[in-house]
Amino acid sequence: MAMRVSGLGSYHRKRNFRRTPEPRPRQVRQHKHLAFVVQKHRASHLHYDLRLELDGVLKSWAVPKGPSLDPKQRRLAIRVEDHPWEYRNFEGTIPGGNYGAGEVIVWDRGTYRCAEAPGEAAVRRQLRKGSLKFVMRGHKLRGGFTLVRLGTPRRWLLIKSNDRCATLRDVTLDDRSVRTGRRLPNTRRPARRRKRCRQ
Ligand code: MN
Repeated sequence: MAMRVSGLGSYHRKRNFRRTPEPRPRQVRQHKHLAFVVQKHRASHLHYDLRLELDGVLKSWAVPKGPSLDPKQRRLAIRVEDHPWEYRNFEGTIPGGNYGAGEVIVWDRGTYRCAEAPGEAAVRRQLRKGSLKFVMRGHKLRGGFTLVRLGTPRRWLLIKSNDRCATLRDVTLDDRSVRTGRRLPNTRRPARRRKRCRQ
């Protein structure tokens, strides 16, 4: 068990929860498999938002070209603000005039874990160091990946590991929502059969 106290340290220190009816910071089981989602988002520019669950929020990167399963493709991933956990199921239209206005679908989702060790601590440590090696188990994205930070805090690269889930096939051709089967409007590409690799 690990206490989720991120940002709540002083709340916790000031209280004895045997003596106050106030809510105790939620205890969560250290889970091996954390959630991820990739949302396809047509805002002013089409991009994909990679979001990894950590400490109760979704750490987020905007990937302009989308993820690739080809280890030779290094995809720029711009770190953006953490999103709330509830955002992982969001699919729909952000109305004009709002930040990120445009259509969003849940392009892929599943679980991930740090390749080095299970649990959130290893993810946290590697992200702080600027190099996260992780394994994804989604509908489209599977196998090992690395997120590596470039010189500046916001610029990262997303790179597929060279494992048996690696392929030259363009995974973004599979453009349907894994939640609803929808496509973003005005995209008419033939759906391709997905091949899942075994891990
Ligand atoms: Mn976005």
